Amino acid sequence: MEEVKNEVTTENPDQQREEGFRGRRGMQKPKRRVCSFCMNKIAYIDYKDINRLKKYLSEKGKIISRRQTGLCARHQRELTTAIKRARNMSLI
Ligand SMILES: [Zn+2]
Repeated sequence: MEEVKNEVTTENPDQQREEGFRGRRGMQKPKRRVCSFCMNKIAYIDYKDINRLKKYLSEKGKIISRRQTGLCARHQRELTTAIKRARNMSLI
């Protein structure tokens, strides 16, 4: 008389967990955003290259955040340094 066990398996926690994973269809696109400096293999951002720097400045002259520029951490930092330097030299 152990047939009752079959009914109990419906509440198998493992099964429930699996369904939970399957049900979570967040489908984030694996669109890889490569930073444009990396793409052009620019290791050093020149502060005299104002035309390039200006692309990463807002109308008010503020540095556009990394989320919007899509730069990698390294290049965003280099960019910030370059922009600040350019500001110091009053190029911007
Ligand atoms: Zn980069």
